[in-house]
Amino acid sequence: MPRIAQLTAPGHIEIIDHAPLTASPGSAIIQVKHAGICGTDLALFHGDYPVPLPHVCGHEFTGIVKEVGSGIDANWVGKTVTAEINNTCIAYGRSPLCAACRNGLSAHCLERTVTGIVQHGGAFAEEVKVAGGTLHAIPDNIDPVTATLAEPLAAALQTFVLSPAQEGDTVVVLGPGRLGILIVFIAALKGLNVIAVSRSSAKQNRALKYGAQKACAPESAETLIKENTEGLGAKFVIDTTGHADGISQALQCVQPRGTICCKTTCGLPATGLDMTKLVVDEVRLQGSRCGPFEPALQILKTHHEKLRPLITATRPLEETQPALESASVEDKVVIDMQCV
Ligand SMILES: [Zn+2]
Ligand SMILES: [Zn+2]
Repeated sequence: MPRIAQLTAPGHIEIIDHAPLTASPGSAIIQVKHAGICGTDLALFHGDYPVPLPHVCGHEFTGIVKEVGSGIDANWVGKTVTAEINNTCIAYGRSPLCAACRNGLSAHCLERTVTGIVQHGGAFAEEVKVAGGTLHAIPDNIDPVTATLAEPLAAALQTFVLSPAQEGDTVVVLGPGRLGILIVFIAALKGLNVIAVSRSSAKQNRALKYGAQKACAPESAETLIKENTEGLGAKFVIDTTGHADGISQALQCVQPRGTICCKTTCGLPATGLDMTKLVVDEVRLQGSRCGPFEPALQILKTHHEKLRPLITATRPLEETQPALESASVEDKVVIDMQCV
């Protein structure tokens, strides 16, 4: 029987046996091999991002397709894959489509479930069931542990899909952690002028290694950014702090008519935001979430050796609880289903 790591109460994981999953029409069963822990998993684990319990977290994963339901190409079986997290009308091959799917907003499908997050069991388990249309084959040269970065890389790419920065623009990344470091890397690939802001000198140094031109602590951010932008502030400030007050920090760094790109999903409301400054400076707020997988996989194909060291630990499924407890200090932890 496949095992699952079930969140039964905030901060409490139980490993239990589960009946094998069976593929319903439009779906696929994946034998999970590796699943990364991200900030959203931590918010779910700590109860800041409330969901009905019990719940299985995990949405950044790789595995092998075990079975597909009717309507899904049987050639997927046996392939090593990753999957997008939104199980939508389109991904299930349903008809008619909901209004969101009909209007090109399938990431916001009105009928969707979100693997490991919203009304859908996730990949901290030996098996996961997803909509067949979410599958993406992993190119041969990428090792499956590194391939768990496809989902967060896609989310990092989406930042610039919705806030198209031009070469040479100054982009500040606040909190270059698990997701933020991928944004630093992609911003540098795009030729943007990146300033990384972190309390941790280790994270500052890592950001410099992954393409930031400058890095500093939050206390010196405003001065450094002004020095680099003729006193104006940054055109784009990306909040990946994972904290509800990140947006207020971002507002101190952004130029008039600049954009704050919001990537924090800590589950908590932002309080104390200076709305007047936001209005007076005509600042744009742009949330963004899931992104395009194929470009993310292409980036992994070229840069997987550079990105591999971002994964700092692998732990067996049995250790999901301590892995979640320590993930905030261990950077990127991946649950390895085969590791005992
Ligand atoms: Zn994630
Ligand atoms: Zn839909």
